[in-house]
Amino acid sequence: MLVVMKAQATPEEIQAVCRHIEALGFRAHPLPGAQRTAIGITGNQGEVDRGNLEEMSGVAEVIRVSKPYKLASRDVKEEDTVIRFPGTDATIGGRNLAIVAGPCAIENREQAFVIAEQVAASGAQFFRGGAYKPRTSPYAFQGLGVEALRIMAEIRERFGLRIVTEAIDNETLDLVAEWADVIQIGARNMQNFSLLKHAGRLRKPVLLKRGLSATLDEFLMAAEYIMSEGNYEVILCERGVRTFTDHSRNTLDLSIVPAVQRLSHLPILVDPSHGTGKRDKVLPMARAAIASGADGILVEVHHQPEKALSDGPQSIYPDQFARMMDEIGQIAPIVHRELPRGIHVEALAANPHDASARQ
Ligand code: PEP
Ligand code: MN
Repeated sequence: MLVVMKAQATPEEIQAVCRHIEALGFRAHPLPGAQRTAIGITGNQGEVDRGNLEEMSGVAEVIRVSKPYKLASRDVKEEDTVIRFPGTDATIGGRNLAIVAGPCAIENREQAFVIAEQVAASGAQFFRGGAYKPRTSPYAFQGLGVEALRIMAEIRERFGLRIVTEAIDNETLDLVAEWADVIQIGARNMQNFSLLKHAGRLRKPVLLKRGLSATLDEFLMAAEYIMSEGNYEVILCERGVRTFTDHSRNTLDLSIVPAVQRLSHLPILVDPSHGTGKRDKVLPMARAAIASGADGILVEVHHQPEKALSDGPQSIYPDQFARMMDEIGQIAPIVHRELPRGIHVEALAANPHDASARQ
């Protein structure tokens, strides 16, 4: 159920409706839009008695949401969700493309800094790097853990990049939430419902990667798990699905971009690195992703991929990243998007030493 408030409804009227919903034993999710606020109702097993709600002051209408995902649905919020990062002009969703770049894993301080400096110089606003790695083999490099989180916090200070890193379980989730700007939930955890609910109780944006064989509905329902707990800042990420092809690691399913955008207001990024698994396919798929209307790219970059401790074969070189930025910057206006010119951080701009160090 969804309560649509009148355009001129006051904050008090919205609050009164939320209180009424909570008093009925349900959960109210006020989602402000450009025109009006809609209040999603969850926690109800069957129909909610709409009688009293419709009579309340400020209420325009009460409607049934037929889709299994409610809060992620465009029925609840028509306009695209734009996620903002206080202190910077970086956004995810909306007109500006969001670019998340960095190594698969943080291997040491020097490696992370070399890559961060180069991706920042080419205009990335977000730095990615795994601190906790979900590896197929228990003998493979598992990540530096908290040490990597500390290194990335230094990178945020130094370059103004916002930090995206993965939490692999409930224990690492609180640590990641403490240090990072965006919590990544990986493909293998897309249906880890306990982790999703835990992330939903935090107030940090969550980047949710599509499961290895997840359908569109399953993907959106996973996002709904996070939102149902009150965290509405969810970013979807297509990273390829398992198919019979053997020319690439996964099959990047770009048609999910318009499919998501039709049904949901949530932003969707594309990861051409895991989506192909091969360096020579990353740039073409990044270009195609932007042409398909994606809200941005998540890409693995390494200055010495042959020595990388994970995902070297799919990591592009920093000069290829610079080329990718140039190419997608040219495609962006054709699809009515813009590639922002790097990061603008108030704090850094005010500090000439740091500002010059970024160039
Ligand atoms: C990653 O981003 O490094 C990663 C492990 O991705 P995925 O969960 O999509 O495999
Ligand atoms: Mn990786």
